[in-house]
Amino acid sequence: MSVRLILVGPPGVGKGTQSQLIETRTGAHPLASGVIFRAEIDAETDLGQLAKSYIDRGELVPNGVTIQMMLKRLRSDEVRRKGFILDGFPRTVRQAEALDEELEKEEIHLDVVVSLEVDEEIVVHRLSGRIGCTRCGEIYHRFNKPPKREGFCDKCNSPLLVREDDNPDTIRERLRVFWENTKPVVDHYESKRLALHVDASKDPEDVYRQIMEHLGR
Ligand code: AMP
Repeated sequence: MSVRLILVGPPGVGKGTQSQLIETRTGAHPLASGVIFRAEIDAETDLGQLAKSYIDRGELVPNGVTIQMMLKRLRSDEVRRKGFILDGFPRTVRQAEALDEELEKEEIHLDVVVSLEVDEEIVVHRLSGRIGCTRCGEIYHRFNKPPKREGFCDKCNSPLLVREDDNPDTIRERLRVFWENTKPVVDHYESKRLALHVDASKDPEDVYRQIMEHLGR
């Protein structure tokens, strides 16, 4: 049976890692708003240009364009068939309400909203050493999970890059934005009894197990 879930948590908490694990093992389709924005930036689209000005400052891209971009992808046949892992969306209560409305209209059932929770020091440490593959998106860490060959992905051999917004000032701003705008999203789903709180300081496999246990898998 396909999985339909949302991953919520501060930057660096491990949403991307969980998304990859869930995708590989359940076949659900990942929909990561940050990844989609970065692809738009690379393709030099109008949306990409607009998004970049916000992303570079660690601020949120406006709700209107973000909601439109994500709901469009949610409507694809592939996502309908395979289920989805929303990562980084919704990030505001307004986005959550727009998503709820869409799911209700389409009669799509949401399994769970996973709130990944960890001490702020840990996420700052994770983000300040994070390196990602420019092609397959695999995530490494300078100290915790270095690639076998420096600067290149173990999986696809493509170059690794530090994200521009993973610098100390922008990291601080992204964390502030998370507490102000995104924490209320967890409360929103708490009130709908859909939130699952998970200790994300644990090993990614433990975190994955907790999510799957909750889903009865
Ligand atoms: P992420 O890769 O999820 O850390 O996202 C990187 C950046 O993209 C964020 O710091 C925001 O500037 C922007 N972004 C991603 N998702 C959203 C969203 N749902 N709403 C607004 N901005 C977003």
